[in-house]
Amino acid sequence: AIKTKEEYIESLRKMNPVVYMFGERITNVVDNPRLRAGIEATAATYEAANMAEYRHSMVTESPLIGEAVNRFTLPPTSIEDLVARVKNNRMLGGRVGTCFQRCTGLDCMSALSIVTYNIDQKYGTEYYARFLEFLKHVQKNDLTCNAGVTDVKGDRSLNPHEQPDKDMYLRVVERRHDGIVVRGAKAHQTGSLSSHEIIVLPTRALKKEDKDYAVAFAIPTDTPGLIHVVGRSTLDMRELQGCDIGNTKYSKYCPTVIFNDVFVPWERVFMCGETEFAGDLVMRFSAFHRQSHGGCKAGKIDCMIGAALTMMDYNGTAKLSHLRQKIIDMIHRAETLYGCSIAASYEGKRQSSGTYFIDPVLANASKIHEGKEMAEVGRLLVDIAGGYVCDLPSDRDLANPEIGPLVMKYMQGAAGVPVEDRIRMLRLVEKLALESADTVSDIHGGGSAEAHRITIMRETDLEGKKKLSKRLAGIED
Ligand code: SF4
Repeated sequence: AIKTKEEYIESLRKMNPVVYMFGERITNVVDNPRLRAGIEATAATYEAANMAEYRHSMVTESPLIGEAVNRFTLPPTSIEDLVARVKNNRMLGGRVGTCFQRCTGLDCMSALSIVTYNIDQKYGTEYYARFLEFLKHVQKNDLTCNAGVTDVKGDRSLNPHEQPDKDMYLRVVERRHDGIVVRGAKAHQTGSLSSHEIIVLPTRALKKEDKDYAVAFAIPTDTPGLIHVVGRSTLDMRELQGCDIGNTKYSKYCPTVIFNDVFVPWERVFMCGETEFAGDLVMRFSAFHRQSHGGCKAGKIDCMIGAALTMMDYNGTAKLSHLRQKIIDMIHRAETLYGCSIAASYEGKRQSSGTYFIDPVLANASKIHEGKEMAEVGRLLVDIAGGYVCDLPSDRDLANPEIGPLVMKYMQGAAGVPVEDRIRMLRLVEKLALESADTVSDIHGGGSAEAHRITIMRETDLEGKKKLSKRLAGIED
């Protein structure tokens, strides 16, 4: 079942999550301008699936239900599926210029489709069958899922069970005949209110003493006990005030989601106590998500390059060779990021359950590159666009009958360029380069930079490389 954009938005209207923003309860999520801008970004994934131009890449048949599904509900079962993830993300990243929030859920499902099978092989549990039932529900209803992975973590020097407050990592507080009760909080839940379901995974490798923290499950985003507290980002008030917005169509918001003794029925529990699988589950989720980033962020850079070139036209600087060099510097960064993610996909391998897993070293190399180079791309964009990125007068000053015409006069750029267009593009540059919610995700999204480095070290064949050098040096092991 492929939902249209309109059907997706209406489906969210039927949900009733508990939401707070700026200290107030929000009862109408869908029509709140701040949240709606994020919902519109996710809606772009539904819209693209119904557009003749993109349908062939966004829609495919699910081997599980034998029906056409949006690829955002499809754990990969081939190299072609892996490659399509990155290509679709690049296309969507360019179309929305920000996070479209639907990949994290897919990355959780992809990781679960590998690890639940492996847990069952060892313990004879039934997690994989439960997961497949959940996946059928997601595919048949074309749902969006959110990834509840990042715990708030309390004192970083302590393991979960050692924390003075045991709820710093989400944990099972009660086991009942019909399910479990969980407590904790997940941070940086981008798009939690654009989602129908939250999929929870552990955030780190766990020791056997951390048994209560080794839990994975999925529940609707309006399950009793869930509280979404929408975080601030630097340009959030602009959306609520309805002016100086920049990206006039899409945005991103990131709640902290509190699990205040939430009941999860057993049929939705995909791991409960198998601590030795927690590290593998989060490693696979993170690797998939870092591959996803290589697509969406390359797409965002495409949009940033377009904004830079347009600003050159509008400022009368299109022929300056040093600015053209900077455009090249932006392009090669996008292509390196994208190239690593595409390569991670082509180097993917089939796992026991039949799901394909990307090459984690290449996926993490892509993300390390992103963490450093997206900031450089933003710097280049601001350099090209000019100083007004940071202090452009408000739309409301431009509309003011007394000073508006005067302000407009001094906002002129190259001859023949409408002043309004130059102002609009400067605002978009501000949003693309400087908004905190999206630019911080370039660094911390899918785990912090050090997590990428650790994965690279762990997953690389270091002995193989030593052997290469010893052979040339004539050293026999
Ligand atoms: Fe998808 Fe993550 Fe990129 Fe957002 S930042 S579009 S969730 S890969």
